[in-house]
Amino acid sequence: MSIFNDNLKRLKDLQKIENISDEEIQILLEPKQVNYTELDINNKKYPAWRIIYNQALGPGKGGIRFHPEVNEDEIRSLSLWMMLKNSLADIPYGGAKGGVKFNPKKADLSELEEVSRKYIGAFYKYLGQDKDIPAPDVYTNSQIMSWMLDEFEKRVGQCEPGMITGKPIELGGIKLRSDATAQGGYLVTKEMVSKFLENKKDLTVAIQGFGNAGHFIAQKLFEDGFKITAVSDSKGGIYKKEGFDILKLIEFKQNGNSVNDYSFGQKVNNAEFLELPVDILILAALENQITENNANKIQASYILELANGPINYKADKILDSKQKIIIPDILINSGGVIASYFEWAQNRTGQILDEDYLRNLLDKKMKTNWQRVYNKYEERGGEITLRQAAYAIAINKILTAEKLRGHIKK
Ligand code: NAD
Repeated sequence: MSIFNDNLKRLKDLQKIENISDEEIQILLEPKQVNYTELDINNKKYPAWRIIYNQALGPGKGGIRFHPEVNEDEIRSLSLWMMLKNSLADIPYGGAKGGVKFNPKKADLSELEEVSRKYIGAFYKYLGQDKDIPAPDVYTNSQIMSWMLDEFEKRVGQCEPGMITGKPIELGGIKLRSDATAQGGYLVTKEMVSKFLENKKDLTVAIQGFGNAGHFIAQKLFEDGFKITAVSDSKGGIYKKEGFDILKLIEFKQNGNSVNDYSFGQKVNNAEFLELPVDILILAALENQITENNANKIQASYILELANGPINYKADKILDSKQKIIIPDILINSGGVIASYFEWAQNRTGQILDEDYLRNLLDKKMKTNWQRVYNKYEERGGEITLRQAAYAIAINKILTAEKLRGHIKK
């Protein structure tokens, strides 16, 4: 099944809802540039992609994923979502994404470095602060960004820290970036609770995926008094009705363990995990976790897409028919790319901006973006979903830019 084609159905639905012409929608149905190569590492070939979806609003922007299952269909989808997310977030970027199909968990540091450098060696001509700006994604981190920056600068013969974001502080990164996705997600969760769940006490939460995005949002919600009753990672999950001490669980995970091996709580597998009885289910792992096969079994009434694309098109329809509220990925996980934008802007201007100032700016932007989506949803009297409201805002802005550029004639 193609995740990309599945998501195009959402664009087609939007075309009807927003009366968008065929000529207009056509421009959004294919990426502008698909770059593919095979990286030769120790006599093994690793497929690698960098896809630029659209640049009407600015240079490409999106992370690089290292994963054994990465494929072109997935990178296309992720680059499409980046285009929508950047537009909705009101930052001057198009959309892009990259990936290498290999298992970084089985690689040593020197192999990781070689893959990172060879990736840049293959694609550096298409990258740059005014062309396309990568960042970390699943199983890539600030060390990988450092090797990539270094390789890029060697190739082009000049310093250009704004060509990549998610860097360590010493190389031009900003402190805010590491927990920005979770911070944005946390703020939107609070806004959602105040609109839909104001009178409900002791809200229970399950979080699928305990990596960068997942563990930080767990910590923020836990410290705010939410009861985190279930968490999982790729090996499986744990459930405890009374809730976990998340700070202890983070320490356990950071010592190299899987949450599935935590001695407190009941073990659950990844399929059972999604069906647990909780108020809020946060998806912070990978795509396609809720499909037509399990959508009917989801008990949570509120589903938050901290990961990109965790719910497929058919599942959306099923969940909507059961009055579940879904907070879409392009809204709730946009804190990371907004912080990346701050990092990029700082690298370009050479100004050093105060952390507190940036944190406030991120908070303000997330709340404004939530409000714009919620207002649009409310204007239509609940006839459209929050996802459709978010897509409508994002798509209309890109199409306006395309028209202003003369790419759409009518
Ligand atoms: P990460 O690599 O830090 O963490 C991923 C986590 O998911 C790991 O704990 C892994 O064990 C777990 N996982 C993998 N398969 C799983 C499964 N089947 N069931 C349960 N857990 C599983 O990645 P991340 O940066 O936290 O990204 C997670 C998701 O959030 C991705 O979809 C990513 O695109 C999205 N996202 C992340 C950021 C960011 O700034 N980190 C920004 C926007 C979107």
